[in-house]
Amino acid sequence: MDENALIRVNHVRKVYRMGEERVVALDDVSLDIYKGEFVCFLGTSGSGKSTFLNMVAGLERPTKGEIWIGKVPIHKLNEAQVTLFRQKNIGFIFQAYHLMPSMTALENVGLPLMLRGVGKAERTKAAKEAMKNVGLEGYEARRPNQMSGGQQQRVGIARALVGKPKIIFADEPTGNLDSHTTKDVMDLISKQVKENGQTLILVTHDRSIADYADKIVTIADGNIINIEKRN
Ligand code: ADP
Ligand code: MG
Repeated sequence: MDENALIRVNHVRKVYRMGEERVVALDDVSLDIYKGEFVCFLGTSGSGKSTFLNMVAGLERPTKGEIWIGKVPIHKLNEAQVTLFRQKNIGFIFQAYHLMPSMTALENVGLPLMLRGVGKAERTKAAKEAMKNVGLEGYEARRPNQMSGGQQQRVGIARALVGKPKIIFADEPTGNLDSHTTKDVMDLISKQVKENGQTLILVTHDRSIADYADKIVTIADGNIINIEKRN
């Protein structure tokens, strides 16, 4: 473990139990991730990518091992502590967007701020700015079902970025998009996180997306099998 790394994953193992059966989702994973890095996890379906993200985000606890973000031991926090930590420090982008269907785009983008207790005026101002940054000016009043997949994912990106979190997690963010829209969305994500000095961990099975990353970590059967640094 490098003490200078922002995220330190130390011999993390995750075993799921289903009755008699045990599934080793992550075998023994160690990795340091630095501030401002864009790290891409590349692996086939079932290799343990989502498990890794969920573990680092504190959504699930490792069976063994440690996860540190700065000075915070994520593996030791209780539910309430980890929820608070996530609200303050982490933004999520999902494959299926996970937007609230009854809310407008602007309300969806402002949601993380609402959960943090930010008042309506400040929330609206920040959400408008975040929508502008992803090229969605004028779409504030639309509901998710009135937008294309690419536009919905832009709303998802604006929502992940609105609170200026230190770390962004993206789980197959272009998995539901065509190749042209994939490029637009990846250009947007990588530009925004670089501008803000944010750390991005993105998982995908799509090698063409990995080309955007500073570091490509290949995962197979719950283990890191290769780390490639790029310029
Ligand atoms: P990926 O995101 O790379 O497709 P996952 O991390 O979702 O892979 O899954 C890794 C392995 O762990 C798979 O074999 C999957 O079936 C298993 N797994 C994931 N979540 C659970 C769970 N909640 N219960 C049991 N097995 C799980
Ligand atoms: Mg997955």
